[in-house]
Parts: sequence; C-alpha cells; structure tokens
Amino acid sequence: MEIKLWGTRGSIPAPGAKTLEFGGNTTCLEILPEAGGRIVIDAGTGMRLLGDQLLESGEPVIFHLLLTHNHWDHLLGLPFFAPVYQEDTEIIVDGWPHAFQALTKVFDNQMGNGFFPVAFDQLKAKIGFLNRVARGPLSLEGVIIDSIPLNHPQGGLGFRLREGENSLVFITDNELGAGHSRRFRDFVLFAKGCNLLIHDAQYLPEEMENHHGWGHSTYEEVVRLAVEARVQRLVLTHHDPGRTDEGVRQLLERARKLAASHGAPDLPIDAAREGSSYHLP
Ligand SMILES: [Zn+2]
Ligand SMILES: [Zn+2]
Repeated sequence: MEIKLWGTRGSIPAPGAKTLEFGGNTTCLEILPEAGGRIVIDAGTGMRLLGDQLLESGEPVIFHLLLTHNHWDHLLGLPFFAPVYQEDTEIIVDGWPHAFQALTKVFDNQMGNGFFPVAFDQLKAKIGFLNRVARGPLSLEGVIIDSIPLNHPQGGLGFRLREGENSLVFITDNELGAGHSRRFRDFVLFAKGCNLLIHDAQYLPEEMENHHGWGHSTYEEVVRLAVEARVQRLVLTHHDPGRTDEGVRQLLERARKLAASHGAPDLPIDAAREGSSYHLP
C-alpha cells in the first residue's frame, strides 16, 4: 500500500515561512491499497489539497474516510474538499462514532447561523456513515482495519491497516504517558511488528509539565513505543503549531539519538512532512 501525507500539523493550521519544510496543514492521510480503492484518514486542512488533485484526474471520487476523533483540526478540511460539491462523489465515513455528527456540524445548521454557508445535506456528494470499525475489525478494499481507543480528551481511535503481510499503524492525538485508562502496553501490542508506525509526537519531554492531560505524546514516549513494538519504521506527526522547521529537525535529531541509545540505531525515524509518501513494504 502507498501512504501519502497531506497534512501533518497538530491543533491548528500553521502556515508561514517557518513551517514550509514540514508543512502547515492539519491531519489528512491518503492510503492506496495494492488491490485498488482509496482510504483517507482524517479531514484536516490537508484534505483541500487532496481534493484538488482528485478532481484533476477527472475520475469520480469514491473512498472511505476514517475519522480518528471529532476535534476541529481533524474535520475542518471537508467544507473545502472540492469533490463534496460533485454529484459523482461517494464517501463512506467510519471511525470514531461521534465524529460523523461532529463533521456535519462543521457546516451550516440550516438556520443560517452555522459555521459555514452551506448545510451538510446540501452537499452534492453522497456521504454515508458506516459505524463499524469501532466495534471490531473491518475489511475494506482488501485491507483489514482494527482500531484502538486513545488517551485523548473526548476520546478517539487509532487504526491498524493490514494488507497481506504489510501493516500501517496510525495513532494521533494520544497521550502515551502514565496515568491513563489505556496502558502503554496496549499500544505496544497494537503496533507490534508493523512496517510503519505514524504517531503523535507533539511535545518535547521538557514541555510536558504544562501539557499533561492534553492528549499528546513526547517523542521520547513514541520512540520507546516503536522500539518495544519492534516496528520497522517510525514517523513522528501532529507537529505542534508553534514548532518551526528548525524545531522539528531538532526534535527528530533527539528522537534518532534516543533510538540509538535504546539499542535501535537502525530504526528509520522521520518527521512527517506534508506531501511525502511511503510505500509498504
Ligand atoms: Zn489534533
Ligand atoms: Zn484532538
């Protein structure tokens, strides 16, 4: 499968000269299984760019949209995703059960006082909700999708997508630190042996003191998870909106040194970069 990163920023878009390298758009990933079809995870502002590219192809836009949770930065791209205004677009939404309702609220509420001039049911695309993946493994486009509840205010889901021998684990907006209902060990088991782990690493350890309970992890915790789960590649994402490109590079350098000190000097680690892609295996 191929994985394309359309948005890598956490919390709020962060455009500007200091975020050009890793990108300012919020979370959106496109997954293209070998067997065909398309799965998109999250509808952050990166989704606008994906929409423009899909329309250029001239083909009907048909895909499954998996939503991790219902915070703004993961939903706000949909009103600006041009294919929702096309009649031949079909989107089946799944993922965090409360996120579909939240998605409809990003639009107008039909009383003229919503957040956007167009109401959800005025969209020309067919958009349905399949409340399936939170209740057990879901098979889509030859890909088996499992989910895991996250440590995040108001909740959320992480996903593992398997196609044949290959698997991607995508977990954003998750606090790995101690003291939460979902234990570190559960995430190790969930990510065990995957080809690619993409995980929220919004904070440096020294920033965590003021951010306990915000639902995000440090690169230290994420590196430990990757090493213990023996993943083949790690990508750090949900960059803090205040983190400049230089800051992301420093965080990445520290993460790589830490992996080496944990006995995993060969573990490839990247910082998620808007516009980049990975191919499994
Ligand atoms: Zn977020
Ligand atoms: Zn969130």
